[in-house]
Amino acid sequence: MSAPSSPRHQTLLAVAVETPQHAGLGGTLDYLSEQSLSPGTLVRVPLGKRELPGIVWERADGPTTDAQALKPIRQALTALPPLPAAWRQLLGFAAAYYQRNLGELALAVLPPELRKLDATQLDRRLKRLPKTVAGLASTAATAPRAALTKDQSTAVDEIGRVGAGTCLLHGVTGSGKTEVYMEAAARVLDQGRQVLVLVPEINLTPQLEASFAARFTGRRIASQHSGMTPAQRLSHWLAAHLGEADLVLGTRLAVFAPMPRLGLIVVDEEHDPSFKQQEGARYSARDLAVYRGKLEGVTVVLGSATPSLESWHRAQRGQYTLLPMPERIGQGVLPSLKVVDMTNQPRANVGSGDALSQPLVHALRERLARGEQSLLLLNRRGYAPVLQCTACGWKSACPHCSAWRVFHKADRTLRCHHCGLAERVPRACPDCGNLDIHATGRGTERLEEQLTELLPGARIARIDADSTRLKGSLEAQLAAVHDGDVDVLVGTQMIAKGHDFRRMTLVAAVSPDNALYSSDFRAPERLFALLMQAAGRAGRDAAMGARSEMWVQTWNPRHPLFAALARHDYAAFAASQLKDREAAGLPPFAHLALLRAEAKDAAVAQRFLHAAAEAAAALPQSASVMIYPPVPPAVSRVADVERVQMLLESASRTALQHLLAALQPQLHQLRSSHRGLARWAIDVDPLAI
Ligand code: ADP
Ligand code: ZN
Ligand code: ZN
Repeated sequence: MSAPSSPRHQTLLAVAVETPQHAGLGGTLDYLSEQSLSPGTLVRVPLGKRELPGIVWERADGPTTDAQALKPIRQALTALPPLPAAWRQLLGFAAAYYQRNLGELALAVLPPELRKLDATQLDRRLKRLPKTVAGLASTAATAPRAALTKDQSTAVDEIGRVGAGTCLLHGVTGSGKTEVYMEAAARVLDQGRQVLVLVPEINLTPQLEASFAARFTGRRIASQHSGMTPAQRLSHWLAAHLGEADLVLGTRLAVFAPMPRLGLIVVDEEHDPSFKQQEGARYSARDLAVYRGKLEGVTVVLGSATPSLESWHRAQRGQYTLLPMPERIGQGVLPSLKVVDMTNQPRANVGSGDALSQPLVHALRERLARGEQSLLLLNRRGYAPVLQCTACGWKSACPHCSAWRVFHKADRTLRCHHCGLAERVPRACPDCGNLDIHATGRGTERLEEQLTELLPGARIARIDADSTRLKGSLEAQLAAVHDGDVDVLVGTQMIAKGHDFRRMTLVAAVSPDNALYSSDFRAPERLFALLMQAAGRAGRDAAMGARSEMWVQTWNPRHPLFAALARHDYAAFAASQLKDREAAGLPPFAHLALLRAEAKDAAVAQRFLHAAAEAAAALPQSASVMIYPPVPPAVSRVADVERVQMLLESASRTALQHLLAALQPQLHQLRSSHRGLARWAIDVDPLAI
């Protein structure tokens, strides 16, 4: 297979190769080739002792760095059409913006199967493709279509008119956003173009796929998400790239799907944090979608009932076209808010603060008597967040993390939610032998147990990451709720999204206060989105909408967040948050990057970041960038690795970008002089600081 090195290899090619970020290699490597290959061509090249996949890239003019050592490429996979210029530009931008090695990112976003193929194997795959493509065509029975409401048709018309721009579709839950996406998509498909739809979570893709399949019978619908088999991911990706798929639906990684006839991008639930990749190249698929829209001259629709403050701010300033849909479809009304002031509740009933108050229990009993459903939201799984010895004060700390291990009663384990360590619950205190170990606080398991006592005979179900570990179990549990086999559903935020429960007339947030005083500046925004989202589960049925209620148990009943929630007033909430953000110099008024470092010894990570801070401050690009001292994050040790982070902040995105670009090479050098440093990474536009 290896081609002999000979004078025939004349053409100099720049190739993006997957080199590890920390190898410090820059954009591309030079190789020789017999034929001149157009940029975007997939190749296989030697690197050291290995043979790796690569992508031919635009080569800047000028001499190669090391003409003597140049090697010929091994293979060109010319059967695959080159990855288009727009795709290369998107990857070039993403790599530069998120401070990653180009080759690493460009190869990482290709289907893993594709990276393994040689020319012969690729030919074989392409021969089989027509069969795959035929299978992508939707055979679903066409769903009957309702006439669009006035708001919907205005939104669809606007989307058609905007051209190369971004729309923010701000529609309350149940306002019919999906219908708008589909109608806008239909118009683009009718012009012979492709549509890309991004959703935050795998769990939400089947529902969306079903809606699109029923709307677009005969159209070829491809998917891209991590739940697919490697073979499926490759064939669907090939269908997108070859223009053989009309629609591509997927999670954040789908933003990189090459689509030669792209005509529209939709980002559903655009505020969702899962659009931000949290390891490796920490890109935001939402932000890249907006960039890609500009690049390819197509409309981008961002949809949400509770937009991110970044998107909302841009819409307020006219950078995005705001498309409001304030009304629910049909007679559906949004539930009214009941705030339980926990400071007024009898102490005995309130317990550790996460218990159910009398008025809420009463309201649950009413629902039961009427045969209606209730949903209780508690964002903490397990039975209790910590076990404690009443005699000596021992607590169930994780030996490997700076966190408590959570008590799971169902399987009698103590489990660390950070490193995964699970052990049987000790019978007695490991330190003093005392038999009286106390479960402090409350998780979903304990809430479920308490409900069983308070509501005898009620059918209670729990949905969280523990109850849905087995494949298909989430679907089965949701189906039971839909079929009316459940009276009270307990769960984490997992259940707040996307599901449409007809007989649900009460939704309660049992213990939402943590988010109000969190050190995470986005916590209130998330809580508001979660509660609006959860409230959207109730009152969908017109007949029952009138008595639907959203309950909140809080020790801070006068918090402005609840006042805005009571009026379902996202705009008021956003305005007050934006004021706070502006005063505090936080996004969207400032731009942030985190430099993270990890080591077994926290002092090593600290020293590395201090050296980085000095190096950054010495750069001329640091003039308008604030460099904060390194600090440990909230959970500083995970699996025996200590983490430290340093914040960089600037009012100018460009200034921050220039500093990061200048700092990068220095960080690679600094690393070698800091023995024991496990790794470092830059997180641009971090979700939390
Ligand atoms: P959202 O995504 O905004 O929460 P959905 O798209 O789920 O709202 O729509 C809510 C419900 O209203 C769905 O059952 C949908 O089928 C229905 N619906 C949407 N548009 C219309 C319409 N124009 N006429 C009647 N029903 C509609
Ligand atoms: Zn003890
Ligand atoms: Zn741990």
